Amino acid sequence: MEWSNAKFFTIHQHDVQLPAGHRFPMEKYTLLHDKLIAENILSREQIYPAPPAEQKDLLLAHELRYIEGIQAGSLPAQELRPIGLPWSPGMYQRSLCSVGGFIAATENAISDGFSALLAGGTHHAHRDRGEGYCVFNDFAVAALKLLSHQRLKKILIIDLDVHQGNGNSSILGSRDDVFIVSLHGEKNYPFRKVKSHLDVALPEGTNDERYLAELENVIKILPEAEIILYQAGVDVLKEDKLGTFAMTYEGIKTRDRMIFEYARRKSLPLAMAIGGGYSQPIDYSIEAYVNTFREARNIF
Ligand SMILES: [Zn+2]
Repeated sequence: MEWSNAKFFTIHQHDVQLPAGHRFPMEKYTLLHDKLIAENILSREQIYPAPPAEQKDLLLAHELRYIEGIQAGSLPAQELRPIGLPWSPGMYQRSLCSVGGFIAATENAISDGFSALLAGGTHHAHRDRGEGYCVFNDFAVAALKLLSHQRLKKILIIDLDVHQGNGNSSILGSRDDVFIVSLHGEKNYPFRKVKSHLDVALPEGTNDERYLAELENVIKILPEAEIILYQAGVDVLKEDKLGTFAMTYEGIKTRDRMIFEYARRKSLPLAMAIGGGYSQPIDYSIEAYVNTFREARNIF
């Protein structure tokens, strides 16, 4: 593939205003978009506004009652609170585009080899509820759409965000046409994990050496698949405020390179979402995300 022809999707045009002091770094989507262009890693021409997901696609992974509750802003407070983002019409629209953008990334990965959403990885959203800044589950919707519409037989989800993808697991964890592997902090949110196909829980302070050794072992036993959906969360970085690991930029670059090289070696299309990143200042997370795209460009 030609990197310059690969397509990317963004939702930064849907940034919503959060109350002062809110800990979610909403500005990171615009910062990442702008930095990828400023550093000539992506051109403006290859970044598209993410399309909103259609309700029929959301219904593959979510209950109608929940979708309509988010749309209308009518969910009771105790169901909205775990999401951690205040409801607004803009928040609903943004959530639709996050899913639509990842669906688009999977479709483009199949045609071009690699594609990414400059957001997403909303792996804490369950069929009937959201939590942990996740409203709708982009990986679950996209995976179920690939299985039903593209007739794929096996999807590999590699989730390397420091937080376990309990929503991915609650929706997809018992399927045999999906294989979810997750490396995550055992002491990190969510405190009640939901079983994936392969869970590797690592202790607080996990460093590059330990992490990369575990990842190498995991890569050796990955099952055959037709596509990789990669959640490339950078909240494994030691500067992250919501993560318990102690990884460096170099360690994360090696992590990403190992995944991208695996995809190349197996000739598998790879669709990526950026996942979590909550350093303060946010610049550390942005630099780690940009590194991920640098590694992708080097390999694809
Ligand atoms: Zn995370």
